[in-house]
Amino acid sequence: LRTDRTRPGYCRREKDERLRMALIDLRNICREYKLEGTTVKAICDISLAIDKGESCAIMGPSGSGKSTLMHIIGCLDQPTTGKYLLAGKDVSRLSETELAQVRSKRIGFVFQSFNLIPRVTTLDNVILPLVYAGEKAENRRTKAANALEKVGLEKRIDHSPNQLSGGEQQRVAIARALINDPDLILADEPTGNLDTKTGDEIMEILTTLNKKGHTLIIVTHEEEIAQHAKRVIRLRDGKLVSDGK
Ligand code: ADP
Ligand code: MG
Repeated sequence: LRTDRTRPGYCRREKDERLRMALIDLRNICREYKLEGTTVKAICDISLAIDKGESCAIMGPSGSGKSTLMHIIGCLDQPTTGKYLLAGKDVSRLSETELAQVRSKRIGFVFQSFNLIPRVTTLDNVILPLVYAGEKAENRRTKAANALEKVGLEKRIDHSPNQLSGGEQQRVAIARALINDPDLILADEPTGNLDTKTGDEIMEILTTLNKKGHTLIIVTHEEEIAQHAKRVIRLRDGKLVSDGK
């Protein structure tokens, strides 16, 4: 008995399908917050497709919905209405546990305030996602050390975050984001707490990672930072107002 799977040409068609598929496919996404009887529409009717390997900046004034959109793209939050396909999989109605698995497998996060654990070493900060992802104990140190080498911090593995400069802390956060080899790196105002020169260095690291194949989305309100991305998506009052290369 021949199933579809054994038909000649099946594999090629499947592969073509995968190549055409966007990594991120948002369809009519809205996110509302209920506050004391009123409803705040943080983002409204956003449709957007981002391919694997792209670099995008999400821009817009404060309160325009950038973080809300990033949290949905990053599976930290879910849309009130609309559909979100990540690598072809509908992630808009998953449980907390399933969302955590998707994040652990596919997404690396970089935040404005670094979000490192203060009292543990650089190496242990980077190891943490490996523990969640169920990596074997004997592989963890080597993997984390390799990730720290990629951001030029191999000499700082035993330091704690408060012994590092802001730029170094953000590089630790990038190493941590990279550790599970994510398809997608999401950075929310990654240079917001850094001086211009250090911010440029961080952007250079992120751009290099994008060239190596990680899809990159940066949330920023600084035009100079957005210039590093090939595509700029602008929000205003929760709506997508422009999307240009
Ligand atoms: P941005 O990152 O562009 O500054 P946000 O996505 O943080 O914007 O916020 C968009 C809108 O949604 C704002 O009006 C904000 O006040 C509102 N908002 C964000 N988070 C919440 C929340 N947890 N509860 C209620 N309103 C929220
Ligand atoms: Mg924000």
